[in-house]
Formats: sequence, structure tokens, C-alpha cells
Amino acid sequence: MDFSYSARTADLLDTLGRFMDEHVYPAEPVYDEQLAAADNPHEQPQIMRELQARARELGLWNLFMTHDGLGAGLTNLEYAPLAEMVGRSIIGNEAINCSAPDTGNMEILAMFGTEEQKARWLRPLLDCEIRSAFAMTEPDVASSDATNITSTIRRDGNDYVVNGRKWYTSGILDPDCKLIVFMGKSDPEAPAYRRQSMILIPADAPGVEVLRDLPMFGFHDRLGHGEVQFTDVRVPATNMLGAEGDGFAIAQGRLGPGRMHYAMRAIGMAERALDLMCRRALERTAFGGPLAERGVVREWIARSRIEIDQIRLLVLKSSWLMDTQGNAAARAEVAAIKVAAMEVAHAVVDRAVQTFGAAGVSNDTVLARMHAITRALQIADGPNEVHLRTIARLEVKKHR
Ligand SMILES: Cc1cc2nc3c(=O)[nH]c(=O)nc-3n(C[C@H](O)[C@H](O)[C@H](O)COP(=O)(O)OP(=O)(O)OC[C@H]3O[C@@H](n4cnc5c(N)ncnc54)[C@H](O)[C@@H]3O)c2cc1C
Repeated sequence: MDFSYSARTADLLDTLGRFMDEHVYPAEPVYDEQLAAADNPHEQPQIMRELQARARELGLWNLFMTHDGLGAGLTNLEYAPLAEMVGRSIIGNEAINCSAPDTGNMEILAMFGTEEQKARWLRPLLDCEIRSAFAMTEPDVASSDATNITSTIRRDGNDYVVNGRKWYTSGILDPDCKLIVFMGKSDPEAPAYRRQSMILIPADAPGVEVLRDLPMFGFHDRLGHGEVQFTDVRVPATNMLGAEGDGFAIAQGRLGPGRMHYAMRAIGMAERALDLMCRRALERTAFGGPLAERGVVREWIARSRIEIDQIRLLVLKSSWLMDTQGNAAARAEVAAIKVAAMEVAHAVVDRAVQTFGAAGVSNDTVLARMHAITRALQIADGPNEVHLRTIARLEVKKHR
């Protein structure tokens, strides 16, 4: 395994580092101010449009996309350090068009979409002219086991008719969201993993109703997490993604690289939290000396450095495996980094919050927000226990 940077990565890291320092970090408070002043809190703030224009000029665009001819053409290993750097800011990935759920949706459109679907949805997503949502989870069933999904996709002549209730449909409240990738049951009699299909629904189709915007520990995300009712939503049969019954296989294709991206960005969040923790500990004095001189704080700092470096190596190994042996070969490692990266990032952010005292739980720093994100991401995209189940199954299998 060789984890040294390629010449492309080194160049892009240099450009991205300057972009983050000169544009993204200074834009963070402006982004919040513009959102607070907007009539619609889900509309993209002007500052983000400016950041995206600049990122495009600099060639910092769609870096996540590993499919030929669609993005920068980086491997996962090349993208990993860039995703980490961009993850240091909560608005970083949106600035370079690498944010969920669009990345996963672009991934599956590239892999399974027809030429017509690609022209209508993928191209505008790559150009960030539209945004998208992914509707799988349902409030009424345990959705970590996707075989439980009850929403229906029923064939009717040249159309499909969709019914069901979804929630935590991220991105749906953004007025630029024009596409919903919907997962539902198309054949209840088929074998368990062939019952589900994925279909493309225009966000403004009659019968799509956003009932509410769900919070994340009280924070309302700019993109919004919708609870959405689908009532007799009719779309042409050509909107089926892949073939009927492919839903499960497509979902796996979507979530593999997506989990890597989350893990990479979590390392960035952890690094930023550690930076903040060290600086605060040096400048804040209690009981006759700076916090940075206290043994307990020094231990938090040291443990954070060890844990971050451990997960970075695991992420790089998973990226290397995906690049060299394919996503399936990296299954256990991808599950491992989804758990480990988020747990470490959350632990580091939590120590930073403690070091900041009351300021840590206010909104004066980015820490409270990161605390919520790193906790929620231990549930979103598959709860930790489901990934642990996968790792344990593969491990035990070796000994049968
Ligand atoms: C911020 C956020 C954004 C999200 N965005 C989206 C989105 O865009 N689209 C979408 O479709 N969904 C989205 N989700 C939903 C997310 O994917 C689901 O919440 C997740 O898959 C778990 O499903 P569930 O909530 O139904 O939990 P359940 O399936 O009810 O599980 C509850 C708990 O049971 C435990 N558990 C489950 N299985 C096992 C097991 N085998 N062994 C032991 N314990 C187990 C876990 O601790 C789990 O947290 C989002 C969630 C959050 C929090």
C-alpha cells in the first residue's frame, strides 16, 4: 500500500487549501447571516453561489466523481485527502458540488441511468443547476432493514403509480431540488432482495406533499429533512432506474462510496475540532495556568491525535482497496470506517466542547453543530449496529 499523494492530489490540495483559507472559512458567518435574513431558510444563499463559481474556475468541482469523463477523474485514494480538507468546514462540500444526497444520486445515475435520464437529471446535477433528494426511509418501519420498506411502485399502462410516506428525505426543501430518487416495493411476491425498485420522480409531480421539515437535534439544515407524503404520484415507465427489482442492488452502489465520503469529511471535522481545542486550551487560564497545562486536557489532545491518525489510515486503506480490488472487496473496511470515523469525530468534538465550557454548547463556534452532525451520522446512512453486524458476519465467516 502506498498512500503518498499523486501529483494531481498534491496540486489540488494546494489549490483547495488556498480556496478554503481565502474564501470558504471567511464565508461561514456570511452564509449563516444570509440564511437568517432570507424569506425562505432553505434557499441557497448568494455567498454559496459565489463560492461555487470560484470553485469551478479553480477546477475544484465534482472531485468525488470517479466515473470516466464526468468529474475530475480522481481515484478514491486521491479524493480522500481533499474530502478531509473540505470537511473542515460545514459549507465546504457544497461549495465544490460534493455534498450528499446529490453525490450518491449522481453516482447511481452515472452507473444505472439511461442516456435520457442522464441528460435530464445527471448533467444538471453535475452543473449544480438543480439539486436532488433520496427517499428510502419510512417513519412506520425499521428502515435500517430496507426489506421492510412498504411504499409501493405499481405499473399502470405506460406509467408507474407511487404511494407511501417517507421521512428524513434530505434536500427536499431546497427550492432547487427537482428530483427525488424514490425506493419502493414493486413486486411483493418476488424474492426478498428483488422486491424493491428505484424510480425517478420530479419534485413538483402532483401528489408529492412535503408535510414538515424535521430537525437534527433542534438544528434545521439548509437543505431540509422532509417528511413527505406520496399519493398516487404518476410518472412515465421510462423513469424506472435500472430494471424493476434492482432497487437493492442500486442502493448498495449508492451507499458504498457515500460512506467513504462521510468518513473522509468526518476526519476533517475532527481535525478542526482539535485545532480549536488546542488554541482554546492555550489561551484560557483557570486555577493559575492555561488549560493546556492540565493533565486531563493534555490527555484529551493526545488521544484525539492518536485516534484521528488511526482512522485516517483506515480510510486510506479502504480507498486503496476500493480502487484496486473494487467496492465489494472493501465491504468490511467501508463498514468499519463508517463506524470508526464517526465515533472518533464525535469523541474529539465532544472533548473540544468540554474544553470550551459554555461557549462549546453555544452557536458561537462550529462545535455544537459538529456535535449534532457527528452524532446523527451514527444513525444516518445505516446505524452503527448494522455496520458492526456486517463486519462481524464477514469476520465469523472466516472461521467457519
Ligand atoms: C440527519 C439524517 C439524515 C437522513 N437522510 C436520509 C435521506 O436523505 N434519505 C433517507 O431515505 N433516509 C435518511 N435518513 C434516515 C436514516 O438512513 C435512517 O434513520 C437509518 O437508516 C435507520 O433507520 P430507522 O431510523 O428506521 O431506525 P430503525 O431501523 O428503527 O433502527 C433503530 C435502531 O435500532 C438499532 N438496530 C437496527 N438494526 C440493528 C441490528 N441488526 N442489531 C442491533 N441493533 C440494531 C440501531 O441502534 C438503530 O439506530 C437520515 C437520517 C438522519 C438522522
